[in-house]
Amino acid sequence: MKAYKLWFCTGSQDLYGEECLENVAKHSRIIVEELNKSKLLPFEVVLKTTLITNELIRKTLNEANTDEECAGVITWMHTFSPAKSWILGLQEYRKPLLHLHTQFNQEIPYDTIDMDFMNENQSAHGDREFGHMVTRMGIERKIVVGHWSDSKVQEKIGAWMRTAIGIMESSHVRVMRVADNMRNVAVTEGDKVEAQMKFGWEIDAYPINEIAEAVDAVSESDTNLLVEEYYSKYDIVSDGRDAVELRKHIAVQAQIELGFERFLKEKNYNAIVTHFGDLGALKQLPGLAIQRLMEKGYGFGAEGDWKTAAMLRIMKLMTAGIPNAKGTSFMEDYTYNLVAGKEGILQAHMLEVCPSVADGPISIRVNPLSMGNREDPARLVFTSKEGPGVATSLVDLGNRFRLIINAVDCKKVEKPMPNLPVATAFWTPQPDLATGAQAWILAGGAHHTAFSYDLTVEQMEDWAAAMGIEAVVIDKDTTIRNLKNELRWNSVAYK
Ligand code: MN
Repeated sequence: MKAYKLWFCTGSQDLYGEECLENVAKHSRIIVEELNKSKLLPFEVVLKTTLITNELIRKTLNEANTDEECAGVITWMHTFSPAKSWILGLQEYRKPLLHLHTQFNQEIPYDTIDMDFMNENQSAHGDREFGHMVTRMGIERKIVVGHWSDSKVQEKIGAWMRTAIGIMESSHVRVMRVADNMRNVAVTEGDKVEAQMKFGWEIDAYPINEIAEAVDAVSESDTNLLVEEYYSKYDIVSDGRDAVELRKHIAVQAQIELGFERFLKEKNYNAIVTHFGDLGALKQLPGLAIQRLMEKGYGFGAEGDWKTAAMLRIMKLMTAGIPNAKGTSFMEDYTYNLVAGKEGILQAHMLEVCPSVADGPISIRVNPLSMGNREDPARLVFTSKEGPGVATSLVDLGNRFRLIINAVDCKKVEKPMPNLPVATAFWTPQPDLATGAQAWILAGGAHHTAFSYDLTVEQMEDWAAAMGIEAVVIDKDTTIRNLKNELRWNSVAYK
């Protein structure tokens, strides 16, 4: 990922004289310096020259478009900036936009305030003029309100920066399909041309045996080195298997990991889908191998699910570099606990859950898949962290995409599950299992999700809005009656 920066563009005008403009520039510089010092912003803010004319606004916003490191613009109208000056620039501007509605002073200076102060510090007024124009032009933007020194405001700017990265990086998502969607399955299907038009995703198919050849070409010594790493990093659980045979099974996944990664790098893809029913010359379903690739930041979807693979890639990038990140993974709603007061959904997949979400030790086990016709695959087995998270499902409704976003609360299962040799998570969807699951099904959500502990509903909602697609949020405020109305109204709004 690029070393992204966000531009800070203050709007003003020359009506109040040179001294006023000097103060505007000084205040903007102080705000930018303090924001950068706050440690709450994941990316640097760069101050641009105060914008006071049509020409300069247009030039600056076009420079933002072409600057590869610029991930978006933060605007603030310190005084008053007649918004007709912004029309041409905004018409041509194509990157994420944050309108920071703040002012330099936190408190009204009761003892000294006069009309000069009023004219210089009137963002309450100037930001409304700017906001009117952006609304009239129908441009998607985020608005953050409050004093710039407030840590809550800074956190909101930081969260939006990660959304901006998701928007910018979407058009760099490249999904390699080494298997088609699973036969007869509906929800993993979709319009790949429309996906490229809406999200910028490139979604290409390769014969499974081309990647199998890349796996076969990985040398025994490279494979053994990686197996050594596995043995030093993870607990090896034999399940009664002979040690030599166990190691051979694990080595198959090491060879797949190296072969897949080389093939993806060579062809410049950052997400991949597989399908247990279409493995060509591969000896095992890629389990451990895919888990490790996800941990490295690759998107993944099982059974050919390219939409989830692309979403996971974007969410991996949105969360990249978060200190003490709790993890982001492909998930699947598998089975329920319906005991009153303990309701929840056990999340897992055949094998492919990202170890970034693991809580505690991770073991390697080799067990039958009870599906397909290959060797018993090696996989990483663990349980996941507690705490809030967000589960997303992108579905194709035939005439449009819809992103379903569910706030979920992750918990520990009551008891260990010694006979279940896969990685798991367990969560209760908000507002509760009965309402959350009903809402999810009404909205047409899939069984596969892209999940993260490190993103919020709001960030995913803003991402969907920037992409121009429908988003349906299921959270603590969801009621079935309102949700049904929302879906009914959306079917008209998004026609
Ligand atoms: Mn699946």
